Amino acid sequence: MPMHDEKENMNAEAGSFRDKKMGGKRTNFKKKVCKFCAQKIEPDYKNPDMLRRCTTERGKILPARITGTCAKHQRALTQEIKRARVLAYLPFDKQ
Ligand SMILES: [Zn+2]
Repeated sequence: MPMHDEKENMNAEAGSFRDKKMGGKRTNFKKKVCKFCAQKIEPDYKNPDMLRRCTTERGKILPARITGTCAKHQRALTQEIKRARVLAYLPFDKQ
């Protein structure tokens, strides 16, 4: 999995992350920590409120490099979000 050269892709998705005029350098960079590790919880389709925080308002799953979720939990999260969609807890990607 490439670790760089993907900075531009997330701008289209996340909207508010645009920082072109800063020359690509992120100044107010917040240290990201996996929220599931931090809270010692696992992604759970029965907890759609928590899952919703890892999706865009359109219902798309946010990439781990934006949310800071670790690889293990991002994988579980993707599964749980898809499960939640089938059960209509979460919307499918609109549009
Ligand atoms: Zn984690």
